[in-house]
Amino acid sequence: MRRAGWLQLLKQTIAVLESWEGRWPPAEADEPDTRAEDALRALMARLTDNFPFGHPSYAGQMLKPPHPVAWVAYAATMLINPNNHALDGGPATARMELEVIRGLGTALGFWETAGLGHLTSSGTMANLEALWVARQIHPGRKIAFGSNAHYSHGRCCDLLGVQSVEVAADGFGRMDLLRLQEALDQHDVGTLVVTLGTTSLGALDPLSDIIAMTQRRGVRVHVDAAYGGFFALLAGLKPPLVASEPFEALLRADSMVVDPHKHGLQPYGCGAVLFRDASVGRLYGHESPYTYFTSDDLHLGQISLECSRAGAAAAALWATMRAIPFEPDRGLGPMLAAGRQAALEWHAAMAQSEVLKPLLRPETDILCFAPLPGVQTTSELSARSEALFEAAMRNPKKAVYLAKLRLRRSQAESHWPGLKWDTDDLVVLRSVLMKPEHHAWWPRFMNLLEVLAKDLWGATPQ
Ligand SMILES: *Cc1c(COP(=O)(O)O)cnc(C)c1O
Repeated sequence: MRRAGWLQLLKQTIAVLESWEGRWPPAEADEPDTRAEDALRALMARLTDNFPFGHPSYAGQMLKPPHPVAWVAYAATMLINPNNHALDGGPATARMELEVIRGLGTALGFWETAGLGHLTSSGTMANLEALWVARQIHPGRKIAFGSNAHYSHGRCCDLLGVQSVEVAADGFGRMDLLRLQEALDQHDVGTLVVTLGTTSLGALDPLSDIIAMTQRRGVRVHVDAAYGGFFALLAGLKPPLVASEPFEALLRADSMVVDPHKHGLQPYGCGAVLFRDASVGRLYGHESPYTYFTSDDLHLGQISLECSRAGAAAAALWATMRAIPFEPDRGLGPMLAAGRQAALEWHAAMAQSEVLKPLLRPETDILCFAPLPGVQTTSELSARSEALFEAAMRNPKKAVYLAKLRLRRSQAESHWPGLKWDTDDLVVLRSVLMKPEHHAWWPRFMNLLEVLAKDLWGATPQ
């Protein structure tokens, strides 16, 4: 990976910082010594024990490298180390945070006029906060989420002391509307969590139909779009490259979460929560006399459950959004489109393969599949998936790094009806095609996996 140009830019950025520091009398600073060198050398040795997350051959979990603009911005800002908890701690970066929040909500079609929101350290914290607000608004009422929702929602409800209701998903991994109807009829549901871009399959819950059901019952809707939120850009293309109805319905949801550290080109430590109604700010009811004494402006710490947060995270996102606009047909849109196309094309090719079979047509950029042909039972298919997963990583020059996914019978049965279930669940392979390079790389992955499968099990009987 070529970084020379970006390192040059980092040096220039730091030079500007140093000239700003020159306003004050020179201060003592540590110089590198051998202990520092040793420590860093030891660190580098330890860090080689990683998968090559940034390389195109890595298509396993939801991991992609931050854009170089983000890391230069983060590294330079971190030298100042502002704290976005309070305007005194990070005046410039707190204002940047307000700007990026406004811009994110607009780019993803969540609002036309900004409500309230802020960055968080993660999607989990962002969801916890959205559910905490939901509980304050509907005290004593339950929170419902899909069986396809991120596992942290159940935990968040535990933490908040709120009773939860799980709504089953259909065979496509989306919230089942009949089951939702039952849940709404049988329970006093105050808030429903809808997922756009499920963590396992990348599925999109039918938000538009869901809101039609919840609205007349006064149920609050929170959209967990931690992974899939940025695909709203592709819903805005003509013709759209993902289902557009769920994303168009974002404009009618009460709150949403999106993770810039997943598809927004940021390093970890960057989630976001957005609320349509800015008056939820009153629920925080927080007054901290020690931190808020030089400004009348809103302090982010007054509307956030977390206190100290990296101003550098806001700076990195702010710089990234300037350099790579979050728009459908330029900047981030075409990057997402490349991964989406990779998933669609690979799915179509795999449907014809004699060695691999897709589970279902991807709704975003996550493709699940298994070496199904010639296999009779779920135990055998799981064993083959595990073996192919391991074999695919063995030779770095010819590797494809995948993930494994454990499916329940209800999730897989309708797609592969010939399979005999001699186990409770089934292991399949999962590929997250998040990088633009994956559009050029998927044929190589397919070829590598087909060759490996033939080596492992011989020509598959047809
Ligand atoms: C990743 C993810 C989360 C959790 O976000 P973190 O940033 O990992 O804490 C929540 N919901 C969904 C749908 C996700 O994909």
